[in-house]
Order: sequence, then C-alpha cells, then structure tokens
Amino acid sequence: MNKVNAKKRPLTDNFGKPVEDDQNTLTAGKNGPALVQDIHLIEKLAHFDRERIPERVVHAKGAGAHGFFEVTADVTKYTKANFLSKVGKRTEVFVRFSTVGGEKGSADAERDPRGFAVKFYTEEGNYDMVGNNTPVFFIRDPLKFPDFIHTQKRNPANNLKDPDMFWDFLSLTPESVHQVTILFSDRGIPATFRNMNGYTSHTFKWYNEKGKYFWIKLHFKTEQGIKNLTAEEAEVVKGKDPDHATRDLHDAIERGEFPSWKVELQVMTPEQAEKYRFDPFDITKVWPHGDVPPMTIGRMVLNKNPTNYFAEVEQSAFSPANFVPGIGASPDKLLQGRLFSYHDTHRHRLGANYHLLPVNSAKAAVVDNYQRDGPMRTDDNGGGGPNYYPNSFKGPQPNMAFAEPPFELKGEAARRPYDHPNSDFVQPGDLYSKVMTEDERKRLVSNIVGHLGGAKKRIQYRQTAIFYKANSDYGKRVAKGLKLDVKKVRELAGMSQEERVATTEEGGKF
Ligand code: NDP
Repeated sequence: MNKVNAKKRPLTDNFGKPVEDDQNTLTAGKNGPALVQDIHLIEKLAHFDRERIPERVVHAKGAGAHGFFEVTADVTKYTKANFLSKVGKRTEVFVRFSTVGGEKGSADAERDPRGFAVKFYTEEGNYDMVGNNTPVFFIRDPLKFPDFIHTQKRNPANNLKDPDMFWDFLSLTPESVHQVTILFSDRGIPATFRNMNGYTSHTFKWYNEKGKYFWIKLHFKTEQGIKNLTAEEAEVVKGKDPDHATRDLHDAIERGEFPSWKVELQVMTPEQAEKYRFDPFDITKVWPHGDVPPMTIGRMVLNKNPTNYFAEVEQSAFSPANFVPGIGASPDKLLQGRLFSYHDTHRHRLGANYHLLPVNSAKAAVVDNYQRDGPMRTDDNGGGGPNYYPNSFKGPQPNMAFAEPPFELKGEAARRPYDHPNSDFVQPGDLYSKVMTEDERKRLVSNIVGHLGGAKKRIQYRQTAIFYKANSDYGKRVAKGLKLDVKKVRELAGMSQEERVATTEEGGKF
C-alpha cells in the first residue's frame, strides 16, 4: 500500500472522493478488457461526452472582459437610474464582443457586424446594453430575423456560405441597404475589438423621478481610435491567426493597456420625436448628429481578463429586456422581438436557472422572489421562506415606486407593411456622398463587387439597382465593377420594389 503524501493535492472525483490512479484503466488480467466497475473511467468519459453546450445561434464567436463604467455628466433630468445618478459613480461591468454569423471556431477577421454587449451590475439589478458596432440594422421587423440569419449562414444543401442566399434576401429587403453599406465599408472589418465603437442601435426610453420620459440612444466611442482591416489584410490575418481580436483584447489587458470608450447620449423629447423627419424608432436609420447632437455622459474601461473562458464568457448571457428603473423599451418592433428572444435562447442554451451562473447573477443587488426549483438550481433555492405571494411571513414585496410611468397606446391591431414618408435610401446615400472619402468609396465598391460578383446575374442587377437608388454614382460604380448594363440598372432602380422583384425573379426578364 502506498502512503498518502500529505504534501500533494489529492485528485478527487466529482463528489470529493480521492482517485487512486488516473492513467491506468481497471482491466481483467494484464492486457485484458476494461471492467464496467471502473467507475472513475466511466464517469470521466460520461462528463467529457457532455462538455459542449449549444453554441449561440448568432454571436457564437466572442471574447469578453471585466471593467467599470463611470458617470461623467449629470443626466438625472433624463433618468432616475441609480447607476447614472451621480457624476463619478462607478458600476462594475462585464463586456462581450463577438462576430455574428460565424460558428464558435470561425475567424475574428470576418466581414460581419460585431456584437457589443455590456452588463452593468447595478444596485437596482443587472442592466444589459446589447448593441452592435453599427448604429443601424438590416431589418426592422423581428418576423424577418430568422430568415435573415439563415441567409448569412450556410446553404442547407451543401453547408457552404452562399452569395445567392445572402444577396437574394438583402435585395428583396431594401431597408437593409444602409447597414449593407456600412458592412462593406472600411468599418465592416474592425482591426480589433478595441478599435471599434458600440451603439445601442435601438432607441430606448429614459424616465426621470418626476415620471417625464425621453427617447435616447447611446454611443460607445472607442478611445483607441477607429482602426479597420482592408479585405486583403483580413485574408492574411484570418490565415495567420483566426483568433487575432480575442488575443488582442486579452494581451492588451494583460499588458495593463486597458481599453476604454467614451459614452455619448442622444436625447429627443416625445414632442420632438412626434415631428421628426425620420421615424425615430426605425433601427435602419440613425439620428443624424446635426439634428440630435451627442453629449458625453460617461466612460467605460475594461481592466480585467476572465480567468475562465467557459464560466465567464461562454456562459455569459445578455438580454435587451434587462432594464432597471429609469430605463425602458421603445416601440421599435425589432427591439420588441428581442425582448422575448434573448431570455428564451439563454434558457435553451444554458437552462432555466441561467441567471444563477456567477457572471449573470446580480452582484450589487439582492435577488429575492418567489421563483423556485428548476434544473441546476445552485443557490439555497429560497431556503425555508414562502414560495407564494401574497403571504404573511414577511416575504419580499413589490413596490409601485419602481413602475415605469404609464404611457398611452392606441391604434387598430393589424399586420401592416412599414409606412413612413422618409425613404430607406436617404441615409445610405448621405453616408456614401457626404461622409466617405473618395478612397473609402473605392474600397466600398471593390468590397461589394468582390462578394456580390459570386451571386447570380439577376440578383446582382436587383441589388445594384438598390445601391443606385441610394446614390446614382454608387450604383453606377458597382454596375461597372460587375460588368452590368448601367441602363438596365437605372431602369430597375426606377421601378417599384414589386416590379423590380417580378423582373428579376427566376425566369423573369433579367
Ligand atoms: P455626421 O457627419 O455628423 O457623422 C457621420 C458619422 O459617420 C461619423 O461621426 C462616424 O460615426 C460615422 N462614420 C464615418 N465613417 C463611417 C463608415 N465608414 N461607416 C459607418 N459610419 C461611418 O453625419 P450624420 O450624423 O448626419 O450621419 C451621416 C451618416 O453617417 C448616416 O447616414 C450614417 O450612415 C452615418 N453614421 C451616423 C451616425 C449617427 O449616429 N448620426 C453614427 C454612425 C454612422 P461615429 O461618430 O459614431 O464614429
């Protein structure tokens, strides 16, 4: 018998029992078959077999870090949110950056929007800002979301990315042209997660102590400067180090170079929103800075790497439905769909008690309610306290002081196509003609031609007509790059969307 060496850390099984041998399976005879009674072998294999959880259906590849948010301007006239109540107030945050379409092992340098999700561990519970590095999105109706994502993923027949799927859907969804223009611009491939902005994209509601409310957007502006990769640079980076942005974030924090973002606020009163020239809740549009100047209200710094990727990053779960008093939803339809979908997907991916996982649980607030049980309940499950309300055993009480101020809703219930006088083509046109330099326009066109060139000609025509509608020079240059007949593109651009689709569908005129 070997003596127990008290100096060595004992290896145990999952129930704390010491393991005597972790290298040699229990066998019958010297080389004989393994015995089922080698419980250690069986348990070790069984746990390994279950190591993978479902990857996120979107935003599967990501990196995260811990840090803090600090208030730098008084915003109490707009919101009563406690974490924003005082200049200098700091709140712990956890941030996850990601790509969207690729699988968990995909390259960081893909042309794709980047997720930019911030969990604020506030004293009034966790508030999640689940944004992207772009101020707009491809679609504004949540019914279109699953279809949209399918087209950005793999063809069901051959499991390959498919330019026909990608561009067929986008050209049948012209409201996407603003986001498509950003995606194929220089900002479509951020050099690192540290060199990009984050945006709420949606409009949200803030309300103050007096119950007065405002519509707001937040912008997280990188203090490292915007840096991007060209398509050619990205090809090299993807081959050399598919995890380059994950590595960059980790290494910068290890070196003590803590990335930071200045947080800016845009605010509209309900009266301004009522009369605004654009639909203020349409996520395919921005609030131009000239109309609604952003003001700096805070700063976010990331200063601590996770010590365990699976526990802190893979199991982190954000939801745009995680509000705190002083912050609420806007009528943006896409946001309304997301309010349901995020909690739902986390229940599927992590289980009904995913809020108990340390990275997701409230750190600065006490969680106290009547919900009990469920798989993998990891806390004391409410102990011996009552599990129903109302009760007369001093259980936790709701308090109307935390209610969102009432707001009026009216209108007939119906499924209606989007209807707003201001066109989907104005803002992408402005981006192309007023914001981009000539060099940026050249790269935009070249990036589009390189990708759209893989789709069928009739789809190329339909999408190029949409670029033409945003700006005729934009459309002409894409047409030239794709060797399309500019006259035909102009003709298609002059049609209604219905006519354009009929002309370019399978077996149609084009
Ligand atoms: P401004 O001239 O005031 O702002 C233009 C903004 O465009 C810049 O501040 C910068 O945003 C952003 N930008 C610069 N290059 C690119 C690019 N390649 N891709 C995406 N965005 C870029 O103009 P407006 O506010 O009137 O907006 C004009 C257009 O700029 C919009 O239609 C929209 O496409 C784009 N834009 C507007 C934003 C807004 O919130 N108003 C935000 C981002 C883009 P940032 O300062 O955020 O870095």
